[in-house]
Amino acid sequence: MPVRGGLDLGGTKIQAVVFDPAGERVLGQAREPTPHEGGPPAVVDALVDALRGAAAQAGMTTDRLDGIGVGSPGETDPSAGTVAHANNLPDWDEPFALAAALSERCGAPATIGNDVDVATQAEFEFGAGREASSLLGVFWGTGVGGGLILDGEPWHGRGAAGEIGHMVVKIDGARCACGRRGCLEAYAGRRQMETRARRLTDEGRKTSLFKIMRERGRENLSSGVWYRAAAENDELALEIIERAVQALGAGVASAVNLLDVEVVVIGGGLGVRFGAPMAGRILQAMHPHLFFDRRPPTVRVAALGDLGGAIGAALLSERVHPLTRA
Ligand SMILES: [Zn+2]
Repeated sequence: MPVRGGLDLGGTKIQAVVFDPAGERVLGQAREPTPHEGGPPAVVDALVDALRGAAAQAGMTTDRLDGIGVGSPGETDPSAGTVAHANNLPDWDEPFALAAALSERCGAPATIGNDVDVATQAEFEFGAGREASSLLGVFWGTGVGGGLILDGEPWHGRGAAGEIGHMVVKIDGARCACGRRGCLEAYAGRRQMETRARRLTDEGRKTSLFKIMRERGRENLSSGVWYRAAAENDELALEIIERAVQALGAGVASAVNLLDVEVVVIGGGLGVRFGAPMAGRILQAMHPHLFFDRRPPTVRVAALGDLGGAIGAALLSERVHPLTRA
Protein backbone atom coordinates (compact mmCIF):
# COMPACT_ATOMS: atom_id res chain seq x y z
CA MET A 1 0.00 0.00 0.00
CA PRO A 2 1.60 3.32 -1.08
CA VAL A 3 1.69 5.67 1.89
CA ARG A 4 3.08 9.18 2.27
CA GLY A 5 4.73 11.18 4.98
CA GLY A 6 3.52 14.71 5.70
CA LEU A 7 5.14 17.35 7.90
CA ASP A 8 3.60 20.63 9.01
CA LEU A 9 6.45 22.89 10.11
CA GLY A 10 5.08 25.59 12.42
CA GLY A 11 6.72 28.24 14.56
CA THR A 12 5.88 26.42 17.80
CA LYS A 13 5.33 22.79 16.81
CA ILE A 14 5.97 20.23 14.11
CA GLN A 15 3.13 17.87 13.24
CA ALA A 16 3.90 14.67 11.33
CA VAL A 17 1.51 12.16 9.77
CA VAL A 18 1.80 8.98 7.77
CA PHE A 19 -1.13 9.14 5.39
CA ASP A 20 -2.74 6.63 3.06
CA PRO A 21 -4.24 8.77 0.25
CA ALA A 22 -6.20 5.90 -1.32
CA GLY A 23 -7.88 4.92 1.94
CA GLU A 24 -7.97 8.55 3.18
CA ARG A 25 -6.60 7.40 6.50
CA VAL A 26 -4.00 8.73 8.92
CA LEU A 27 -1.96 5.65 9.86
CA GLY A 28 0.35 7.36 12.31
CA GLN A 29 0.93 10.81 13.81
CA ALA A 30 3.48 12.47 16.07
CA ARG A 31 4.39 15.93 17.31
CA GLU A 32 7.64 17.63 18.25
CA PRO A 33 8.27 21.16 19.54
CA THR A 34 9.99 23.43 17.00
CA PRO A 35 13.52 24.20 18.26
CA HIS A 36 14.17 27.81 19.30
CA GLU A 37 17.87 27.68 18.39
CA GLY A 38 20.37 25.72 16.34
CA GLY A 39 19.24 26.95 12.92
CA PRO A 40 18.06 24.69 10.06
CA PRO A 41 20.09 21.61 11.22
CA ALA A 42 18.22 21.58 14.57
CA VAL A 43 14.89 21.94 12.74
CA VAL A 44 15.81 19.05 10.42
CA ASP A 45 16.57 16.86 13.47
CA ALA A 46 13.14 17.67 14.94
CA LEU A 47 11.37 17.03 11.60
CA VAL A 48 13.10 13.64 11.30
CA ASP A 49 12.18 12.73 14.89
CA ALA A 50 8.54 13.66 14.31
CA LEU A 51 8.32 11.67 11.07
CA ARG A 52 10.02 8.65 12.65
CA GLY A 53 7.48 8.80 15.47
CA ALA A 54 4.56 8.86 13.01
CA ALA A 55 6.09 6.04 10.96
CA ALA A 56 6.64 3.92 14.07
CA GLN A 57 2.99 4.35 14.98
CA ALA A 58 2.09 3.19 11.46
CA GLY A 59 4.32 0.15 11.99
CA MET A 60 7.01 1.10 9.48
CA THR A 61 10.25 3.00 8.94
CA THR A 62 10.57 6.26 6.98
CA ASP A 63 12.49 4.65 4.11
CA ARG A 64 9.32 2.69 3.28
CA LEU A 65 7.42 5.92 2.55
CA ASP A 66 6.70 6.65 -1.12
CA GLY A 67 7.32 10.32 -0.58
CA ILE A 68 7.59 13.01 2.07
CA GLY A 69 6.06 16.48 1.86
CA VAL A 70 6.73 19.49 4.08
CA GLY A 71 4.43 22.47 4.48
CA SER A 72 6.79 25.26 5.49
CA PRO A 73 6.56 28.94 6.40
CA GLY A 74 8.89 31.45 4.76
CA GLU A 75 9.77 31.58 1.07
CA THR A 76 9.48 28.09 -0.35
CA ASP A 77 10.98 27.11 -3.71
CA PRO A 78 9.50 23.71 -4.64
CA SER A 79 11.76 23.18 -7.67
CA ALA A 80 14.96 23.85 -5.70
CA GLY A 81 13.59 22.22 -2.54
CA THR A 82 14.68 25.21 -0.48
CA VAL A 83 13.20 27.41 2.25
CA ALA A 84 14.41 30.97 2.93
CA HIS A 85 13.42 33.90 5.20
CA ALA A 86 11.48 31.73 7.66
CA ASN A 87 11.17 34.38 10.37
CA ASN A 88 9.39 32.13 12.87
CA LEU A 89 12.18 29.52 12.68
CA PRO A 90 15.59 29.86 14.38
CA ASP A 91 18.38 31.59 12.36
CA TRP A 92 16.71 30.75 9.06
CA ASP A 93 17.25 33.52 6.55
CA GLU A 94 19.46 32.19 3.72
CA PRO A 95 17.93 29.50 1.45
CA PHE A 96 18.40 26.06 3.00
CA ALA A 97 18.03 22.83 0.99
CA LEU A 98 15.42 21.26 3.25
CA ALA A 99 14.14 18.68 0.73
CA ALA A 100 17.62 17.24 0.12
CA ALA A 101 18.41 17.11 3.86
CA LEU A 102 15.17 15.25 4.66
CA SER A 103 15.49 12.91 1.69
CA GLU A 104 18.93 11.85 2.84
CA ARG A 105 17.98 11.38 6.48
CA CYS A 106 14.66 9.60 5.84
CA GLY A 107 15.46 7.58 2.72
CA ALA A 108 12.51 8.81 0.64
CA PRO A 109 12.02 11.64 -1.89
CA ALA A 110 11.00 14.91 -0.21
CA THR A 111 9.04 17.90 -1.55
CA ILE A 112 8.57 21.39 -0.11
CA GLY A 113 5.43 23.53 -0.29
CA ASN A 114 3.90 26.59 1.34
CA ASP A 115 2.21 25.71 4.66
CA VAL A 116 -1.05 27.57 3.98
CA ASP A 117 -1.35 26.26 0.40
CA VAL A 118 -0.99 22.64 1.46
CA ALA A 119 -3.54 23.02 4.29
CA THR A 120 -6.00 24.58 1.79
CA GLN A 121 -5.45 21.71 -0.64
CA ALA A 122 -6.06 19.13 2.10
CA GLU A 123 -9.40 20.73 3.07
CA PHE A 124 -10.34 20.82 -0.62
CA GLU A 125 -9.50 17.16 -1.27
CA PHE A 126 -10.43 15.49 2.01
CA GLY A 127 -11.96 18.06 4.34
CA ALA A 128 -14.59 20.79 4.54
CA GLY A 129 -14.40 21.69 0.84
CA ARG A 130 -14.51 18.27 -0.77
CA GLU A 131 -17.80 18.85 -2.60
CA ALA A 132 -16.86 22.32 -3.79
CA SER A 133 -15.04 23.44 -6.92
CA SER A 134 -13.92 26.75 -5.42
CA LEU A 135 -12.73 27.44 -1.92
CA LEU A 136 -11.15 30.13 0.21
CA GLY A 137 -9.14 28.87 3.18
CA VAL A 138 -8.75 31.37 6.03
CA PHE A 139 -6.17 30.31 8.63
CA TRP A 140 -6.81 32.35 11.74
CA GLY A 141 -3.87 31.97 14.12
CA THR A 142 -0.77 33.97 15.03
CA GLY A 143 -1.33 35.75 11.73
CA VAL A 144 -4.15 35.36 9.21
CA GLY A 145 -3.17 33.26 6.19
CA GLY A 146 -5.23 32.49 3.11
CA GLY A 147 -5.31 29.87 0.37
CA LEU A 148 -7.38 29.72 -2.81
CA ILE A 149 -8.77 26.97 -5.01
CA LEU A 150 -10.54 28.20 -8.14
CA ASP A 151 -12.22 25.81 -10.59
CA GLY A 152 -10.58 22.89 -8.82
CA GLU A 153 -7.05 24.27 -9.12
CA PRO A 154 -4.87 26.10 -6.62
CA TRP A 155 -4.52 29.77 -7.50
CA HIS A 156 -1.13 31.32 -6.70
CA GLY A 157 -1.29 34.38 -8.94
CA ARG A 158 2.30 35.34 -9.67
CA GLY A 159 3.29 33.48 -6.52
CA ALA A 160 1.86 35.72 -3.81
CA ALA A 161 -1.93 35.22 -4.04
CA GLY A 162 -4.11 34.44 -1.06
CA GLU A 163 -2.77 37.00 1.42
CA ILE A 164 -6.18 37.60 2.93
CA GLY A 165 -4.56 38.76 6.18
CA HIS A 166 -3.40 41.87 4.36
CA MET A 167 -6.75 42.82 2.84
CA VAL A 168 -7.39 46.36 4.05
CA VAL A 169 -10.43 46.43 6.32
CA LYS A 170 -9.89 50.00 7.54
CA ILE A 171 -8.06 52.79 5.72
CA ASP A 172 -5.41 54.36 8.01
CA GLY A 173 -6.35 51.73 10.56
CA ALA A 174 -4.28 49.77 13.06
CA ARG A 175 -0.61 49.10 12.34
CA CYS A 176 0.04 45.61 10.92
CA ALA A 177 3.17 43.49 11.44
CA CYS A 178 3.81 43.94 7.69
CA GLY A 179 4.37 47.67 8.30
CA ARG A 180 1.17 48.80 6.57
CA ARG A 181 -2.05 50.01 8.14
CA GLY A 182 -5.58 48.66 8.45
CA CYS A 183 -4.87 45.06 7.39
CA LEU A 184 -7.25 42.33 8.57
CA GLU A 185 -4.34 40.76 10.47
CA ALA A 186 -3.82 43.96 12.45
CA TYR A 187 -7.22 43.26 14.07
CA ALA A 188 -7.54 39.47 13.94
CA GLY A 189 -3.97 38.09 14.15
CA ARG A 190 -3.40 36.47 17.54
CA ARG A 191 -0.12 38.32 18.00
CA GLN A 192 -1.87 41.63 17.40
CA MET A 193 -4.77 40.64 19.65
CA GLU A 194 -2.24 39.98 22.43
CA THR A 195 -0.54 43.35 21.86
CA ARG A 196 -3.92 45.03 22.28
CA ALA A 197 -4.75 43.04 25.41
CA ARG A 198 -1.40 44.07 26.97
CA ARG A 199 -1.88 47.72 26.07
CA LEU A 200 -5.43 47.89 27.45
CA THR A 201 -4.26 46.12 30.63
CA ASP A 202 -1.49 48.71 31.02
CA GLU A 203 -4.20 51.36 30.71
CA GLY A 204 -6.00 49.83 33.69
CA ARG A 205 -8.50 47.38 32.16
CA LYS A 206 -9.06 44.13 34.05
CA THR A 207 -8.79 40.72 32.42
CA SER A 208 -8.15 37.09 33.36
CA LEU A 209 -6.22 36.45 30.11
CA PHE A 210 -2.74 36.74 31.61
CA LYS A 211 -3.68 34.81 34.76
CA ILE A 212 -4.92 31.92 32.59
CA MET A 213 -1.72 32.18 30.53
CA ARG A 214 0.47 31.82 33.64
CA GLU A 215 -1.65 28.98 35.06
CA ARG A 216 -1.12 27.07 31.83
CA GLY A 217 2.61 27.75 31.84
CA ARG A 218 2.41 29.71 28.57
CA GLU A 219 4.58 32.60 27.50
CA ASN A 220 1.93 34.15 25.32
CA LEU A 221 -1.82 34.16 24.75
CA SER A 222 -2.35 30.85 22.95
CA SER A 223 -5.63 29.89 21.26
CA GLY A 224 -6.46 27.80 24.33
CA VAL A 225 -5.97 30.83 26.60
CA TRP A 226 -8.30 32.97 24.46
CA TYR A 227 -10.86 30.18 24.40
CA ARG A 228 -10.78 29.74 28.18
CA ALA A 229 -11.10 33.48 28.84
CA ALA A 230 -14.04 33.71 26.43
CA ALA A 231 -15.71 30.73 28.13
CA GLU A 232 -15.33 32.58 31.44
CA ASN A 233 -17.00 35.65 29.90
CA ASP A 234 -13.90 37.78 30.36
CA GLU A 235 -15.07 41.17 29.13
CA LEU A 236 -11.78 42.33 27.61
CA ALA A 237 -11.19 39.00 25.84
CA LEU A 238 -14.72 39.01 24.42
CA GLU A 239 -14.28 42.58 23.20
CA ILE A 240 -10.99 41.84 21.40
CA ILE A 241 -12.39 38.63 19.89
CA GLU A 242 -15.47 40.51 18.66
CA ARG A 243 -13.22 43.13 17.06
CA ALA A 244 -11.32 40.30 15.30
CA VAL A 245 -14.58 38.70 14.12
CA GLN A 246 -15.84 42.01 12.68
CA ALA A 247 -12.54 42.44 10.80
CA LEU A 248 -12.72 38.85 9.51
CA GLY A 249 -16.28 39.51 8.37
CA ALA A 250 -15.24 42.57 6.36
CA GLY A 251 -12.09 40.97 4.89
CA VAL A 252 -13.62 37.62 3.97
CA ALA A 253 -16.78 39.21 2.56
CA SER A 254 -14.64 41.49 0.36
CA ALA A 255 -12.77 38.46 -0.96
CA VAL A 256 -16.08 36.69 -1.62
CA ASN A 257 -17.45 39.75 -3.46
CA LEU A 258 -14.48 39.45 -5.82
CA LEU A 259 -14.24 35.67 -6.22
CA ASP A 260 -17.70 34.26 -5.34
CA VAL A 261 -16.23 31.02 -3.93
CA GLU A 262 -18.62 28.25 -2.85
CA VAL A 263 -17.02 27.48 0.46
CA VAL A 264 -14.99 29.44 3.00
CA VAL A 265 -13.03 27.17 5.35
CA ILE A 266 -11.98 28.67 8.67
CA GLY A 267 -8.85 26.98 10.03
CA GLY A 268 -5.80 27.96 12.06
CA GLY A 269 -5.29 27.73 15.83
CA LEU A 270 -8.08 30.14 16.82
CA GLY A 271 -10.44 29.00 14.05
CA VAL A 272 -10.17 25.32 14.98
CA ARG A 273 -10.32 26.02 18.73
CA PHE A 274 -13.47 28.17 18.55
CA GLY A 275 -15.05 25.70 16.12
CA ALA A 276 -18.41 25.68 14.34
CA PRO A 277 -20.17 28.40 16.39
CA MET A 278 -17.39 30.79 15.35
CA ALA A 279 -17.89 29.96 11.65
CA GLY A 280 -21.50 31.05 12.15
CA ARG A 281 -20.44 34.30 13.81
CA ILE A 282 -17.99 35.07 11.00
CA LEU A 283 -20.73 34.48 8.41
CA GLN A 284 -22.97 36.86 10.37
CA ALA A 285 -20.19 39.48 10.42
CA MET A 286 -19.70 39.02 6.65
CA HIS A 287 -23.35 39.58 5.89
CA PRO A 288 -23.52 43.41 5.90
CA HIS A 289 -20.56 43.51 3.50
CA LEU A 290 -21.76 40.89 1.00
CA PHE A 291 -22.92 42.37 -2.29
CA PHE A 292 -25.09 39.32 -3.15
CA ASP A 293 -26.23 38.90 0.43
CA ARG A 294 -29.09 36.55 -0.38
CA ARG A 295 -26.65 33.94 -1.62
CA PRO A 296 -23.76 33.80 0.84
CA PRO A 297 -21.08 31.10 0.57
CA THR A 298 -21.01 28.20 2.99
CA VAL A 299 -18.68 28.97 5.90
CA ARG A 300 -17.26 25.91 7.68
CA VAL A 301 -14.57 25.07 10.19
CA ALA A 302 -11.59 23.13 8.85
CA ALA A 303 -12.66 19.48 9.02
CA LEU A 304 -9.11 18.12 9.33
CA GLY A 305 -8.40 20.32 12.36
CA ASP A 306 -4.78 20.38 13.48
CA LEU A 307 -3.77 17.64 11.04
CA GLY A 308 -4.76 19.50 7.84
CA GLY A 309 -1.33 21.00 7.24
CA ALA A 310 0.47 17.66 7.59
CA ILE A 311 -2.08 15.78 5.46
CA GLY A 312 -1.82 18.48 2.79
CA ALA A 313 1.96 18.14 2.86
CA ALA A 314 1.63 14.39 2.32
CA LEU A 315 -0.57 15.09 -0.75
CA LEU A 316 2.13 17.44 -2.04
CA SER A 317 4.52 14.51 -2.28
CA GLU A 318 1.88 12.57 -4.19
CA ARG A 319 1.45 15.31 -6.77
CA VAL A 320 5.18 15.69 -7.34
CA HIS A 321 6.06 11.99 -7.20
CA PRO A 322 2.92 10.39 -8.66
CA LEU A 323 2.47 6.63 -8.36
CA THR A 324 1.14 4.45 -11.10
CA ARG A 325 -1.64 2.59 -9.42
CA ALA A 326 -2.95 -0.64 -10.82
ZN1 LIG B 1 -0.45 43.70 6.77
